[in-house]
Amino acid sequence: MNPTYILLFVFLGIPALLFGGQYLFARRLRTKKEEVLATDFSATWDAILHQNVPLVTKLPKRFRERLETNIKLFLAEVSFEGQGGVEITDEIRVTVAAQACLLTVGRENKRYPRLNNIIIYPSAFTDSPRSPNFDPDNPTYRLGESWTTGTVILAWDSAKRGAVNIHDGHNVTLHEFAHQLDQEDGVADGVPIFEHRSAFAAWADVFTREYDIQVKKATKGHRSVLDHYGATNYAEFFAVATEAFFEKPKQLKRKRPEVYKILKNYYRLDPITW
Ligand SMILES: [Zn+2]
Repeated sequence: MNPTYILLFVFLGIPALLFGGQYLFARRLRTKKEEVLATDFSATWDAILHQNVPLVTKLPKRFRERLETNIKLFLAEVSFEGQGGVEITDEIRVTVAAQACLLTVGRENKRYPRLNNIIIYPSAFTDSPRSPNFDPDNPTYRLGESWTTGTVILAWDSAKRGAVNIHDGHNVTLHEFAHQLDQEDGVADGVPIFEHRSAFAAWADVFTREYDIQVKKATKGHRSVLDHYGATNYAEFFAVATEAFFEKPKQLKRKRPEVYKILKNYYRLDPITW
């Protein structure tokens, strides 16, 4: 073949093919997103929210439409897998998605870029051999897990109970999705990604101080609006504080005002007013 043609193919043909492929892929994604957005939020899904996720029904009206849009996109992007005989139903998908999306609804266009799949067990489960925490000699029972590789695992009985009871400060779904937000930068350290870098200094300042208080309370067995499990490490402190922020906002603001304020700024939500 004429060397000129070969050079033309290398410098013009290959980039054109690559660009064309990318363009078609982006177009297909866009079409799929448009299709998802064009569908209605069904009455069945709405009934599931009312029945299982009362927290969401208290959300101010201005966030409601965005939440429904984000739930639709979330369910189109993330796959669910049942384990231990669980059959994935709309009840499971919508209950989990609604709470995951509640954490991000205050910030426009914010979703879970790392999240791929959600595994649902009927009740407490032992560590999966696929889990980064797996120890065959010492299996532990868990209600939820969140992996930096984009997997969330939930025990459905606890997840449902936690969603229905919105005042006890325990919600495993909010807890695990707070971990997902924390792990978005690849590390579980209690420091999520901020919209503005300037937010980091205030976060580090408040979290360091408040975590120390939590450790002291847990060590001495003192009562706390935050579960003592939050004294495990900074990542657990963030996840436990998130549960209290949404389920015990009044108590959290009264007892630990700095924690409430920093989470209010991060989530851009003010549950005390709901
Ligand atoms: Zn945790």
